[in-house]
Order: sequence, then C-alpha cells, then structure tokens
Amino acid sequence: MNDAAKVTAQHLGRDAYLYVRQSSLHQVTRNTESARRQYDLRGRAVALGWPAERVIVIDADQGQSGASAADREGFQRLVADVSLGRAGIVLGLECSRLARNNADWHRLLELCALRDTLICDEDGLYDPGQVNDRLLLGLKGTISEAELHYIRARLQGGILAKAARGELRVRLPVGLVYDPAGRVCLDPDSGVQQALAHLFQTFQATGSATAVVKAFAAQGLKFPARHVTGPHAGELYWIALRHDNVLFALHNPRYAGAYFYGRRRSVTDLDGRTRTQVKPREQWTVLIEDAHPGYISFDQFEANQATLTANAASRGDDRRSGPPREGPALLQGLVVCGKCGKRMTVNYHARCDGSLMPDYACQREGIATGTPPCQAMSGAGVDAAVAALVLEQLTPLALETALAVSSELAQRTEHANRIRAGHVQRAQHAADAARRRYLAVDPTNRLVADTLEADYNHRLRELADAQDDHDRAQRAGNAPLTSDQQERICALAADLPALFNDPATPLRERKRLIRLLITDITLIKTSDHILAHVRMPGGTLHTLTVPRSLRAWEAHTTPAATIARIDELLADHTYDETVAILNQERQRSGWGKPFTVASLTQLCKKRGIPSLRDRLRAAGMLTIQEAADQLAVTPATIKIWQRRGDITGRRVDGRREHLYHPGQTRPPDHRRRARQHLTQAVDTDINPTTYTGGAV
Ligand SMILES: [Zn+2]
Repeated sequence: MNDAAKVTAQHLGRDAYLYVRQSSLHQVTRNTESARRQYDLRGRAVALGWPAERVIVIDADQGQSGASAADREGFQRLVADVSLGRAGIVLGLECSRLARNNADWHRLLELCALRDTLICDEDGLYDPGQVNDRLLLGLKGTISEAELHYIRARLQGGILAKAARGELRVRLPVGLVYDPAGRVCLDPDSGVQQALAHLFQTFQATGSATAVVKAFAAQGLKFPARHVTGPHAGELYWIALRHDNVLFALHNPRYAGAYFYGRRRSVTDLDGRTRTQVKPREQWTVLIEDAHPGYISFDQFEANQATLTANAASRGDDRRSGPPREGPALLQGLVVCGKCGKRMTVNYHARCDGSLMPDYACQREGIATGTPPCQAMSGAGVDAAVAALVLEQLTPLALETALAVSSELAQRTEHANRIRAGHVQRAQHAADAARRRYLAVDPTNRLVADTLEADYNHRLRELADAQDDHDRAQRAGNAPLTSDQQERICALAADLPALFNDPATPLRERKRLIRLLITDITLIKTSDHILAHVRMPGGTLHTLTVPRSLRAWEAHTTPAATIARIDELLADHTYDETVAILNQERQRSGWGKPFTVASLTQLCKKRGIPSLRDRLRAAGMLTIQEAADQLAVTPATIKIWQRRGDITGRRVDGRREHLYHPGQTRPPDHRRRARQHLTQAVDTDINPTTYTGGAV
C-alpha cells in the first residue's frame, strides 16, 4: 500500500499535527537547519491533502530533551488531542523527535492505533493500526531510545577519562581562573583574592556562615562575581555577599585546591521529573587533592565542613548542639539528658521580679508518646556552676587570649580597610578607562558617544559609592586600634571573670565563650542534687554536683531561724507584739514580705506553733468564765474586780481576752469596806476626801 492510499477522507476530516522539538537551546539557536527541515514537514502534510491552515504546529517544547514526557507540555497536548480523536495525522522529522523513551513512544502508538491516527516522518507514512507499520514504528522507537544511550556514553566516556586526570575544564568559581596555559590559578585581581581570603578568615573566626554575611554587611564590603553568559561574559562585578554565596564557597573543594568531578547525581522520580542530589564524599567520581593553588588548605576545608555540619545538626533529627542564641540559658544547645541520651530543651519561667529563669527538660519522648517528661530541672544552679568552672579554667590563659584577640581584631580591621581601598582603586581605574574611551570617540557619532557617556557617568557613580564606603568606615572607627585601645582591651581581657559577669556582655558572647571550652554537658537529677558531667574539647571530663534548686513552695518557705525566733517571742508576747518586734528586727516571711498579724496567725496555725493563749492555758490559767465559776460570781464582776486591781489577769489575743491565774481569792466586799472606812473617818476625824486606801 503506498503512502497516499493510507490517507482516507476520515483522516483528512481531522487536523494534522506537526511536532517540532530540539533538545537544547543551543541547538535551537545554532542548528537552524534541523529546525527548517522540521517545519518543512508542513509541506508534506499539504501534499498528502491537508489544507495548510489545518496543519497545527506544536513547538512548545523547544530546548527540552525527549528523554521524558514529564516537562514537555507540547507533547502532552499532542497526546491529549490524539486521544480525543482530533488528530488525523502526527508529523515529526523522525520518531526520536517525538520521544526518546519507549514508554512515551508506545503510549502514543497505542493511542494513534485506537483513534486511527496516522504517523508521518521523513522516511514515510505509517498507520499504527497495521501490524507491519506498528512493528516498524516500535523498532524505530527502540533504536531511538538506544541512540540516546550511545550518544551519552560516547560523550560521558571522553569526559570521564579527562576528568579522572583532572584535565576536564569546568567552570571555575569566582576567585580562580585559568591561566593562558590552561592551569588553574588564583584570580590575579588582588581585590578578589582579598575578598575570598576575608570570607574564609571570618568563617574561621566566627564559625557561622550567617556571621560572615553580617560581618561583610557591617563593614560595607562587597563580594566579587563574574558574568557567565551574555555580552559581558567573563566580566567581574561586585555584589552584596549573600548567605548562599558563603555556603557555596565553604562547600566548594576547589577553594582548597582540590579538583573534583561527579559531586552530584540526577535522580528521576516516578513522575518523570529529575532533580539533582549531592553525593557523599566517598561516592564522588573524581577528587584530586592539591591539584592547584587554593585559598585554604584541604584540612581547613574539612574543618569548615565539620563546623557547618555541626551547625546544621541543630536543625536535624537528633539535635546535639546548636549555635548560640539570645536567651539567658547559658548552656542552651549543649545539654544532653543523662538518663536517655537525648538532647534537652530549654524552657524559661519568669520570676516575680520579671527575670527569666532557664529550665532544662528532656521532653521529646514525653511529647511524642504523651508521657511525663524524662527529667526536668531548674537550670540556674547548673548555669552558675558551669560558668564558675569555665572561668576557673580560663584565668591562667586570660592574658594570652587577650593579646591574641587584640592582634586578631587589629588584623581583621586592617584587612577590611585594604579591601575597601582596593574597591576605590578599582573604581578609579574603571572611571579613568571610561573617560578615555569617551574622549576618544568622534563626538558626531552620537549613538556611540551617548553610550560611552552613560558608561562614564555610571563608573563615576560607582567610584563615588566606593569612596563613600571607604570614608564612612574610617569615620566609624573601623580604623586599626590605637595603642590606647589595645591597652584597654588587654586590661579588659586580663580580667575575664569581670568581663564575663559584666551585665553589658551580651548573652550570645557569653555562650560563645562557654562553647570554646565545653563540648557538651550531661545532666542527671537525683532526689537532692544535680550531677553535671562537663565534657571539654580533648575529652577532659569534670563532674559537678549542684544542689537541686528549691521547688517553688520550698523557695517561699519561712527560714528556720525566723520560725525559731517566732516561737521564742510567742512564749511571752501576743501576736501583735510579736509582729511589731519581728518587723523591728527586719525579719521577713518566705515571700520576702513584712509580717502582719494575719500572716503570722496563719503561719503559726500551719506550723503548729502554739500562741501565747495556748501556752498560758496549758500552764493552767483560767478563762473569765472559769474564774467566775471558781469565785462564784458573774464574769462581769470578774472584770470589775480586775479593773479595781483586786485580781490580776493577763491579756492574750482575740477580742481583748484576758486569762486569770488560778487560786485567786475573792476580794473583800467593797461596799462593806467603804462603810468601815467611813466609820473610821468619823471616829478619828479624818477627812474622807483624803482617803487613799484602794479603788473606790
Ligand atoms: Zn531523657
């Protein structure tokens, strides 16, 4: 059956689909011949009888590989339209254009067969419904997939052999360049070298990529970058340093002079999407140490990796230690549970005075399983004990450290100044060059002159900015330390305990100091104390025993000495008298407040301290009723007698109550006594008004 006979009116009644694709954008721009041949297939469709306006061209997948259908929108549209029965014919230059993957290819064939859609390539016209054509198309698909493999293998083989020798030229990170002989060397631009050296030095000093970014921003330093493509390819420009720039530099072995290849692999998901993964070091295809000059040693590179891993571990699954943060818990990020070995978390509770107190808790398992926390303890005591230990360890080293700190500060400031001066010099050079170019141009050639003038203005602005940065840094005191400043730093650093305990020292700095000397701390709480095993770098272990801090109710318990004093005072004083004496002696309750009658009464009731009344009653003194009964009078009479002084009572607490000694006798009858006195006065002619013999 010839080609034309396969085309029926039913096919012609539907649209013709022309699928155009090239694998990479490079091919799209450079290999225009292939594109022309692909578009020419439209003529083929017209020759077979389709009107030109019914030939639908799908070229949405330019620059996409045929290895998978996942990201090829155009191919997916083609498959959809075929399955909906809209396509009479599908045209592609060769079947590899349609798919280089058998699964995609056979799916398309199956759909074309079901929907009676023809397939046309440069070699001929096929009807997937016919067994011979189907066989041939299947074979072409298989060859197309295999071809992809062979193309890759040929390319990869050569690449791998070159890479194994370390000779494969790859794009170098900024700061490294190829010399004319093709060898890798440091960028001859001293500004670039200084910026990279400063980055690595700052990381070594601070141990944190974020701190490097902050240091560059604070000092107003820029970081170099190079245009990779475009009209300015290879040209250097300066950017504000970003966190990803720092991580890229720290993770890149080339800065340590090592050649590597095959650090990543691409992984294809089930849905056909590919992504790249970084392989573990031992699986890299090629790693050659000391292959070329670098900015740091390979050992330093390894140390940086370890630091980054440790920093990242604070976010990982089993967080052992994290970078220091702002909270007051000194040991945050260093504490490990002595019972189960998990990392302990920091909680804070506020005291009445508003200060935050740290608590260390092992609660991960408890939260996960809804059980009580493994152990939890107040951290204030542990923090203080560990700080004391650190200062004790540090004192002999203090002066040495101070000098090192001082000289490093001076060095870093000078380094930053050199970089800034370099910026100014470079900008000046660029501005001069732009000026020369501008002056050299024929002024009547307006187009060129305008462009050069704009460039000259741009360079002048850059120069002014660089000069500003430089001047501002000088004014901001970023200049090298004077001898006076150095002396002051020495004086401060020589007394590290004072510096450490100075409230002006930020908590973060205190924690960093702690981290320099402590690897981790394992805490175990027993019934009356906390055991803290402090591990120092190098494996030295110190064990501290810290008294368990008081529970809230314990912390607010009235001191035993005060209780004893109260007991002593109550032997001879009422509550109100006792309160007056206690407050005069400045004794305080468990909550640190002065005593009141109410609070003292409550305290005595709770502690079982007998009151004065209880004590007197126990000693046998009588209440007013009992005294009245004993003397066979009414309580009112007892009161009158007491007022007259005929009997004595003792005041105790509560509603002006008095207690009376037992065994008191009835006083003589006053009325009778008065009459007797009166008679005596008449008898002895004594003036009764001068009578003083008792209460009347
Ligand atoms: Zn635990």
